[in-house]
Amino acid sequence: MPQTTSLLDNAEIATALRAAASLMRRSYHAVALVGAGLSAESGIPTYRGTGGIWTKFGEPTIDGWDFFQDDPAGWWRYAIEHKVGGSDFTDAIDRAAPNAGHYALADLEHMGRLAHVITQNIDNLHQVAGSRLVTEIHGNRFKVRCMECGARDRLETIDLERLPPHCPECGGVYKNDTVMFGEPIPKDALDECYRQALQADLFLTVGTSAVVYPAADFPVLAKRRGAPLIEINPEETGLTDIADVVIRAPAGIALPALVDLLLVP
Ligand code: NAD
Repeated sequence: MPQTTSLLDNAEIATALRAAASLMRRSYHAVALVGAGLSAESGIPTYRGTGGIWTKFGEPTIDGWDFFQDDPAGWWRYAIEHKVGGSDFTDAIDRAAPNAGHYALADLEHMGRLAHVITQNIDNLHQVAGSRLVTEIHGNRFKVRCMECGARDRLETIDLERLPPHCPECGGVYKNDTVMFGEPIPKDALDECYRQALQADLFLTVGTSAVVYPAADFPVLAKRRGAPLIEINPEETGLTDIADVVIRAPAGIALPALVDLLLVP
């Protein structure tokens, strides 16, 4: 990874950071769509992009949602045997701590510069870093969700003696909260994302390849309604062409630099 100083000495990145800070100063409701790239500097691999696990090994066969629908108890038995999604990937999530990018997003929220984070990440690191205004569109690895009433609970607190576990509120079946491929996005999360995209007067994309839908639609929707778009990503994405400001740097360097610029009156 390039050194912070040399990146910030880069004239193009410095100019982009100043332009982004200027847009943020003028904004009343900035919203960020965050992807796996934000957590890359916490040691959690991305799927796509340089070093992504799918880039290196190809896309896996994905049938978890069918498995869960056909046999929830069997899915839970399998999940418990394999530590609920246990793999090098989930082990990395379980070990991870927030990085400077997560803390900077929390700072931006507390400074009143960022109204909401829509995250595609399931790793809970925004909350650990102190962000409060967060919608987890793909769920949270450390939670379960009732398939009937949508209530969420912490995985560690539920009784796994009788499988599948059931919601104490309505008796519905609990599933892990992480949204599986093919599974519909939970309505409460999706509604909040659309509400935020429609309210946004500035939109940031951070560490997302912007190819997973419907998440990738939110910046486009906001942009169509006139919100400028800032992209923070070391690599080009499908949204680069419509971005007003592109910061070609890792989020863990760009976001703290943005906070520093915004702290100067
Ligand atoms: P992605 O894997 O498709 O793309 C990652 C993006 O991050 C790439 O564009 C890459 O260039 C960029 N990137 C890499 N390092 C970066 C850095 N230091 N700073 C900024 N950007 C960086 O990720 P996605 O768009 O979020 O979509 C993948 C899906 O996989 C998501 O829906 C998410 O639920 C899931 N996922 C989650 C995690 C996690 O919870 N941490 C990790 C991997 C994948």
